Amino acid sequence: MEISVIIPVYNEEDNIQMLHERLYQVMQQMGISFELIFINDGSRDRSIELVRALAAKHDYVKYVDFSRNFGHQIAVTAGLDKANGQAIVIIDADLQDPPELIEEMYKKMKEGYEVVYAKRKSRVGESWLKLWTAKTFYRILSKITSISIPVDTGDFRIVDRKIVDVLREMPEKNKYLRGQISWIGFNQTYVEYERQQRNAGETGYTYRKMLRFALDGITAFSDFPLKIVTYFGFIVSAFAFLVMLYALYSRFILQDYQPGWTSLMICILFIGGIQMIAIGIIGEYLSRMNNNIRNRPLYIVKDTNL
Ligand code: UDP
Ligand code: MG
Repeated sequence: MEISVIIPVYNEEDNIQMLHERLYQVMQQMGISFELIFINDGSRDRSIELVRALAAKHDYVKYVDFSRNFGHQIAVTAGLDKANGQAIVIIDADLQDPPELIEEMYKKMKEGYEVVYAKRKSRVGESWLKLWTAKTFYRILSKITSISIPVDTGDFRIVDRKIVDVLREMPEKNKYLRGQISWIGFNQTYVEYERQQRNAGETGYTYRKMLRFALDGITAFSDFPLKIVTYFGFIVSAFAFLVMLYALYSRFILQDYQPGWTSLMICILFIGGIQMIAIGIIGEYLSRMNNNIRNRPLYIVKDTNL
C-alpha cells in the first residue's frame, strides 16, 4: 500500500460523494495503490450510511465508526492507528483542502521529505473572527514554544510511515497533531495553496472546541503560562513591598493615616483576580495530567470494516 488517506467525518453527508470522486480521480492519476479511511466521529446525519455504501462498492474504502463524537484530533488519531500506507495523507472531508494538491505533495515527498504540509496562502469564506483568532493564536503559540510549529497550516499534509510510527508511540491523550509532528522532526517542507470555502454543510469546530484545541496546543508545547504566573507573583510582591514601606512611612513619620477603603478594595480585588487566573492556569495543566493518568481509551469503535 503506497498511500492511506485519513478522512475525519462529522456531519458531512453532502460532501462525501464529491470528496470520494475527487480523491479517486487523483489516486487514479497518480497510479498508486491506496486506501481511503473514513472515521465517522459520531455524526448525527447520514454520513455513515453513505460511507458504508461506498465501502460495499469499493474495497479501497475502509471506515471506523465511533460510538460518539470524540473530536477531530482523535478521529485522525484513530485513522493513524489503522493506516497501512507507506505515506499517510490527512485531509478534511469538507473539500476545503483540495484533493488535487495531494499529487504535488506526494512528488515533493519523493524529493526526500518525511513531512509535506499544506500552507494556506489565503482563506476564503470564513468569518473575520475565526481568521483573526486563528492568526493571533498561531503567532502567540510560535512565540511561547521552544519548537517551531509552522503558522497558517492545518492538519492537511502527507507524512511518511516513520512519522506515524513515532506519533503512535507518543502517549499524550490531548492531541495536538500538527505540533507533535513538528516536534518529531526529520525533513519537513510545505506547498502553498488557496484554502477554499466549505463545499456544503457547516463547520463542526465551534468556538468552544477551538478554545479547547488552542489550550491543548499551548499546554502540550509550552510552560510559558506557568512561568507567567511566577513572574507576575514576583512583580506583584515587589510592588506590594513598596506599598508596605509607604504605609509604614505614612503611619509613623507623616502620622497621616486614613481609613483607606478604596485602595484596600482595589488591592484585594486585583490580587484576588491574579490568584484566580494563576490557579486556573495550573488547573489547565493539572486536568491534562489527570487525563493522562486516568489512561482511558482514546476512542471507542462501534463498527468498522478494518
Ligand atoms: N470533524 C470531526 N469531529 C469534530 C469536528 C470536525 O471529525 O468534532 C471533522 C470534519 O468533518 C472535517 C474536519 O474535521 O472533516 C475539519 O472540521 P471543520 O471543517 O468543521 O473545521 P473548520 O474547517 O471549520 O476549521
Ligand atoms: Mg472545514
